[in-house]
Amino acid sequence: MPTPFDLPPTLREMRNYVDGEFVSTERRFPDRSPLHGQVLGMVHEADAALVDRAVQAARRALEGPWGRFSVDERARALHRVADVIERRFDEFIAAEVADTGRPLAQARALDVYRGIVNLRTFADLGKLAHGDSFETRLASGQELLNYTVRKPLGVVASICPWNLPLLSMTWKAGPALICGNTMVVKPSEETPASATLLAEAFHEAGVPPGVFNLVHGFGPGSAGEAMTRHPGVDAVTFTGESRTGATIMKAVADGVKEISFELGGKNAAVVFADADFDAAVEGVIRSSFTNAGQVCLCSERVYVHRSIFDRFVAALAARTAALKVGWPDEDGVFMGSLISHEHRDKVLGYYALAVEEGATVVTGGGVPHFGDARDQGAFVQPTIWTGLPDDARCMREEVFGPVCHLSPFDDEDEVVRRVNDSAYGLAACVWTSDLSRAHRVSRRFHVGIVWVNTWFSRDLRTPFGGSKLSGIGREGGRYSLDFYSETTNICVAIQVLAAA
Ligand code: NAD
Repeated sequence: MPTPFDLPPTLREMRNYVDGEFVSTERRFPDRSPLHGQVLGMVHEADAALVDRAVQAARRALEGPWGRFSVDERARALHRVADVIERRFDEFIAAEVADTGRPLAQARALDVYRGIVNLRTFADLGKLAHGDSFETRLASGQELLNYTVRKPLGVVASICPWNLPLLSMTWKAGPALICGNTMVVKPSEETPASATLLAEAFHEAGVPPGVFNLVHGFGPGSAGEAMTRHPGVDAVTFTGESRTGATIMKAVADGVKEISFELGGKNAAVVFADADFDAAVEGVIRSSFTNAGQVCLCSERVYVHRSIFDRFVAALAARTAALKVGWPDEDGVFMGSLISHEHRDKVLGYYALAVEEGATVVTGGGVPHFGDARDQGAFVQPTIWTGLPDDARCMREEVFGPVCHLSPFDDEDEVVRRVNDSAYGLAACVWTSDLSRAHRVSRRFHVGIVWVNTWFSRDLRTPFGGSKLSGIGREGGRYSLDFYSETTNICVAIQVLAAA
């Protein structure tokens, strides 16, 4: 088995996958480990011409065998891809861990596991997709039958982030492909490895050429921009920063392409005095520090009822200071490195800004010192702040690192107002043992997802997405099937009336 910190040898050169073939390019960029900064492999960057080849191949595949496949055949193909991921599980784990520096246990339980579940779930859900029918009687007495048919949107461009690489790609590929679309997928330049393996899995599973195409590269001036500007792309599904979403929106405007955007968050957790105290402490540990805070759903703002505030801060700080940070394979490790040294500079910039803005650093606030090779890694300490005003930049901008700010609150209306006072609207958490309060408060939050007494618990049939700067549209279950389908209404006259 490959070691957890290196890429499998086959991934030393990461190629594009276009029209069923692995394609080399002249331009290459290094994939660096966030654990030691060394080059893991070279990535072959796709230019606009290769993106064009990928889009043309995807278009041909729509009209080729894939377009003639029944939904059962498409579902079987997706299950075969999931089988390959299961069989090559350890390689996927190694790829994901090498690129991201996350704990092995997380890659097993979340990233690669969800990669498989995403494909299998949508393969099965797709078979349940159906249309509507309406029987209509006009004032003239004429009867009509209206019914809808679903068709693929066409060629879907999927542009993915680095924080949960395999999970994000399969979350899009599962529903897009079961609905009969073909795809051009671009992983983040930070995480090319599991994407390359995913292309190998499609190849090995015998999915027809052109159905799933993978292009490597960056955003502006590279593969990402070429995908959004390509006239042959029918829809763009994007996950990433809100600012990037705004740029992509402008790029796709002329082509009036369908879009689905899953963007950033500055999510809140609210802990009421009647909450199960220990469960709330553990819940906030998870919701603030999982994946080193690099989950769009992480809580960076935590509001705690004043009557329990000091006790909660002390308990959370003690738990946070005891969290084990280190190599992916260390016993009991909770947090690995950040995605890159560059991202660490950004997070440390916020750690410094918080102090300038008047925060009290309750715990963390810097870089851990190990006194060994781990000091080469992009690690930061999990951090808790208190004392910032609601209008501080650190309270309004997404840090995307392992940090949360705790603020006291006095009553329900006040905390709802403060939670909603954000440009973002992705997710919120409520910790309470009062059932009525849980329902009452949850519906008042301007967000796409609310968790009560839990966090990041997902049923893939439920809608997922954000409001305000956090995104456009919902995916998950039938919401995904709706987004990835073109609906045509057919209106049939039951009696053909003579023209008046
Ligand atoms: P990013 O916006 O920097 O990059 C995302 C992808 O977009 C990458 O593949 C990148 O190469 C590409 N890209 C960048 N500029 C582009 C352009 N002009 N045209 C086309 N493509 C372009 O985001 P990131 O740093 O990779 O990911 C972190 C962000 O993603 C955070 O803000 C996080 O909250 C968000 N996120 C949101 C969700 C969600 O479901 N709402 C899920 C995961 C991550």
